[in-house]
Amino acid sequence: MSTLITNIAELMTQDAEHRVLRDAAVVIEGERISWLGPAADAPAADEAVDAGGRALLPGWVDSHTHLIFAGDRTAEFEARMAGESYSAGGIAVTTGATRSTSDFDLTRLAMGRVAEAVSQGTTYLETKTGYGLDLENEARSARIASTVADEVTYLGAHLVPAGMDAEEYTELVCGPMLAAVLPYVRWADVFCEQGAFNEDQSRRVLQACKDAGLGLRVHGNQLGEGPGVRLAVEFGAASVDHVNYLSVADIDALAASWSGWDAGTGQRGSGTRGTVATCLPACDLSTRQPLAPGRELLDTGVQLALASNCNPGTSYTSSMAFCVTTAVLQMRLSVHEAVRAATYGGALALGRESGNDVDGERAVGSIAVGHRADLHLLNAPSATHLAYRPGIPLTHAVWRAGVAQGVGAAQAVR
Ligand SMILES: [Zn+2]
Repeated sequence: MSTLITNIAELMTQDAEHRVLRDAAVVIEGERISWLGPAADAPAADEAVDAGGRALLPGWVDSHTHLIFAGDRTAEFEARMAGESYSAGGIAVTTGATRSTSDFDLTRLAMGRVAEAVSQGTTYLETKTGYGLDLENEARSARIASTVADEVTYLGAHLVPAGMDAEEYTELVCGPMLAAVLPYVRWADVFCEQGAFNEDQSRRVLQACKDAGLGLRVHGNQLGEGPGVRLAVEFGAASVDHVNYLSVADIDALAASWSGWDAGTGQRGSGTRGTVATCLPACDLSTRQPLAPGRELLDTGVQLALASNCNPGTSYTSSMAFCVTTAVLQMRLSVHEAVRAATYGGALALGRESGNDVDGERAVGSIAVGHRADLHLLNAPSATHLAYRPGIPLTHAVWRAGVAQGVGAAQAVR
């Protein structure tokens, strides 16, 4: 089964050459992209979709979410808006609610959140454990996450649960809890922050998870300068997330991690990959923290990702468009740079920017032949409208692995 999407006013590929095509067309064959180019040269296909002069982008790649939870933190949000400052402790409220919710309900809630994200153009999504915080509930969260998300991260080291000694808990995270989640996860993460895990504890968590064969990510430098970025680079983490408070040495370390990487030679890049800096602007706004220095990071050669950090405490939105809008209006990224960070950048942070057309592990986050057909058609003639018309829902149609998703408009466009 092949589908031709034609009459695309602007095709923002986010491919290795950063190409933007006008009057373009794309052909989907099964789950993969089989052709793209000028609409006038498009081959025939089993069915045709008229994009009506709209803009087509890669689907969003949301590389940082926390969707396995129950409960509500409206009261904490209200208190914060009334002037109370954010600290890491609110996580305990969600842990209580999550532990007392059934598997069925936790799964249903998470599936609803994924559907909400997909309906807004997200086609590849990571999520984390981290609201179980005991062996049984972390393993349960990992198992449920593996049924709803594309990528799963073990975040047993989210917070030391009430009544437990930090050292004793770190041992649990590095030992029996890690063994229990291992069948369900590809990544591990640690909240390296004052009030969460200190440098020594974070280091032990990262080492144990690395030894277990997991890829690494770090929550770092959110509430103040600290060792998070340094540890992430030292351990070769795929990404360090938040990055609000960075020293010159932190920025230099991130930039140096990419010095052996040549992204220009193809989607695969070449050389040694570094640590992606993942900015979470919706979280920064919701906690009234200064926005991460995305402009400066890009200018020094750091690869950037934008993600929603969807979670009940500090960023209760799955809207990647909102993150892109904020990155343009307030972080001084161009529209092309912001869209790239929210697509290709997220894929890079998840090690999915390249694929293998033979064995079917397809690249996501950019539009190129052989890549997974993850596409986002905007109800606008160009991606610029994401920032030019802030707050307006612009998702018109979404294809995930070649399958049109239930956005409503996906049918109307045919
Ligand atoms: Zn997070």
